[in-house]
Amino acid sequence: MNQPKKKVGVFSITCDEGCSIYLIEIFNKKLVGWLEKMEIKYFLSMKDKVEIKDFDIVLIEGVISSERDLREVIKIRENTKILIAMGTCAMTAFPSGQRNNFNAEQLERIQPKLKEFSYLPKCLALKDAVTVDDNIPGCPIDEKKFIEVFEKHLNA
Ligand code: SF4
Repeated sequence: MNQPKKKVGVFSITCDEGCSIYLIEIFNKKLVGWLEKMEIKYFLSMKDKVEIKDFDIVLIEGVISSERDLREVIKIRENTKILIAMGTCAMTAFPSGQRNNFNAEQLERIQPKLKEFSYLPKCLALKDAVTVDDNIPGCPIDEKKFIEVFEKHLNA
């Protein structure tokens, strides 16, 4: 019996979206085959926003830098079976996390901006806030590693 198609989402929080742009390159080579096993339920670069609900696999790129990012990541975690950190910034919180190492004077200077835009006191990697099932390193992502990790979950 055919397995139902996996519902996949690709989300971006604070970042330059370099990984999802690179992912489009990977899709150019692999998407046709993958679509036999999955449907893309959400990918901002390709589709309009949808409700965060009932995903099988979600890839998130970026750093949790604001309260909004944190809320979104928690909601995604509650609504996906597999959560994958896509790219080094999602895994480590850098480069945005450079401000985590600011000295007292630098921190005082950025306080008004943190408050104005509801930024968190520290930038967080995904694993600092939620359980992460897998990681795809690289800035942007390493193509071979993406295919290896993604196909592992797609075929599970
Ligand atoms: S890992 Fe690098 S390329 Fe990917 S979203 Fe983060 S900063 Fe951009």
